[in-house]
Amino acid sequence: MTERVAVLGGGVAGLTAAHELSRRGFDVTVYEAGERVGGKARSVPVPGTGDPPLPGEHGFRFFPGFYRHVIDTMERIPDGDGRTVADHLVPTERTLVARIHGDHRRADVGTPDTLGEWFSRIRPAGGEVPPREAAFYTERMLELLTSCERRRRKELDEVTWWDFLEADRMSDGYRAQLVEPTQALVAIQPRRASARTVGRVYAQLLVGQLDPRVETERILDGPTSEVWLQPWREHVESLGADVVTGARVTDLELSGHRIAGATVDHGGDRERVTADRYVLAVPVEVAVDLLTEDLRRAAPSLAGIRHLETAWMNGIQFYLREDVPVVAGHQLFVDSPWALTAISQAQFWNCDLRERGDGEVEGVLSVIVSDWNEPGRVYGKPAKECTPGEIREEVWTQLCAHLNREGRERLHEDLVVDWFLDPELRQTDDGVENDAPLLVNTVGALKHRPPADPEVPNLYIAGDYARTNTDLASMEAADEAGRRAANAVLDDAGSTAQRCRVWELSEPSIFEPLKAQDRVRYRLGLPHPGRARTQVRGALRDLLA
Ligand SMILES: Cc1cc2nc3c(=O)[nH]c(=O)nc-3n(C[C@H](O)[C@H](O)[C@H](O)COP(=O)(O)OP(=O)(O)OC[C@H]3O[C@@H](n4cnc5c(N)ncnc54)[C@H](O)[C@@H]3O)c2cc1C
Repeated sequence: MTERVAVLGGGVAGLTAAHELSRRGFDVTVYEAGERVGGKARSVPVPGTGDPPLPGEHGFRFFPGFYRHVIDTMERIPDGDGRTVADHLVPTERTLVARIHGDHRRADVGTPDTLGEWFSRIRPAGGEVPPREAAFYTERMLELLTSCERRRRKELDEVTWWDFLEADRMSDGYRAQLVEPTQALVAIQPRRASARTVGRVYAQLLVGQLDPRVETERILDGPTSEVWLQPWREHVESLGADVVTGARVTDLELSGHRIAGATVDHGGDRERVTADRYVLAVPVEVAVDLLTEDLRRAAPSLAGIRHLETAWMNGIQFYLREDVPVVAGHQLFVDSPWALTAISQAQFWNCDLRERGDGEVEGVLSVIVSDWNEPGRVYGKPAKECTPGEIREEVWTQLCAHLNREGRERLHEDLVVDWFLDPELRQTDDGVENDAPLLVNTVGALKHRPPADPEVPNLYIAGDYARTNTDLASMEAADEAGRRAANAVLDDAGSTAQRCRVWELSEPSIFEPLKAQDRVRYRLGLPHPGRARTQVRGALRDLLA
């Protein structure tokens, strides 16, 4: 008999589970609260801008070279044009590191030709960082890259990136150049993320740079929903799955030890749905509400989910009369109080923007605001306390302060035809409220992440917060989590179908001998060799002081 699976949530995690299970013969229904699939990855048509409308994004997307799961999925989705969705990934070439004070830097994104060049990528850029601090940073990076996995899990997951780099005792230049830029990476806040997470992600980014077979960094050649998510939905439906949008799950019903049903709200009409198995693929803050105390008692491995934290990271797009490419890749605005990053989309997109909206737009500057608590330059308020109009003003001002330098005025007000703030931000009396916060990797969080197969026998967890090798709230983690949930369903259903592939993270093999040495040292209760050296040096310094 065909088993029925209800997938609750239609983001990347839910769609992955639905994709994998429907192609293995399961009868799958996806219940998605929103009007569109894709969750945080989806594009949003800008209301009132014509037909076809201007494309808005919750935030721009990038796919570093180390991504495996999500790329493999994309390679199996037809794009409707005889190719696959993965064929819509295009490489970036350079990253602009823009400063208000000090020189801009344009870093090559591609694979370095020599080992020396590669090492120079992990070495600080110099300039405002005193040489002793730069040397300390390099030592700590090497310590991360050469620590064994158990030390990373037990010691480095318990210390923040900030403390690991001893940022408090260092210069402003050190903090601004070496510690704080992680903010530009999805979900990594230097004072909250663990050194283990940052270290692993850096190692992956470096591997991505080293491997000449993959592009270091890719983005899509069109709005995310158009070139990926909508074709994905169609493909999953062609495999037999039903995708129901506007269907918000409000309740999971526990009977004995199993889930007996779920309540789904279709815009006011309530329906009780039943299935043999339930894959929970809603965002973490929604999962916390749905996983009642009874459920958490029945599945102790879900108890830690309440300790997982979210933060705000949302996008705003500026639609420009002329394209302003700036750089063929990402732009990091390191002195911006709101931790802005951006990309000029039109240079990568295959679509003619003049055929959208009222035909006036030729460029889209897509910006992500990652710090919503720091006061801005114009209104002196954090983004959270601003109105949407004030957010627009403030972001534009911070961009101009960075880009209208080097004797050039790249941005000016007359360029702006329109702008669009992530609709998940609702205006309130005190500023804005965010309906779609993002999980952030916090120190010690690893132990709180739920497994794909908690103790309730027909409930499975997918989502970027579940325990994965990727360990970074991202599309890659969401895809991996969807696969793990699908595999758990296959196991429990006694299916003989081939399991979904799950990749381990690979790290540069050059560090293997040192990691092996550290494995032995860890077992013997000894510190990492790099740390031992630092301790001796610190003791000598104290002695001489
Ligand atoms: C601004 C921004 C930029 C980002 N950029 C990148 C990037 O460049 N690269 C990268 O890899 N990652 C990026 N990420 C992270 C990535 O988008 C997410 O980690 C990933 O998409 C999460 O997928 P998910 O399926 O786990 O969750 P979600 O995307 O949150 O999907 C959950 C789905 O469940 C639905 N839902 C919610 N409540 C209910 C309910 N009660 N019933 C039914 N359905 C419900 C939601 O509508 C949503 O569709 C970014 C995130 C943000 C916020």
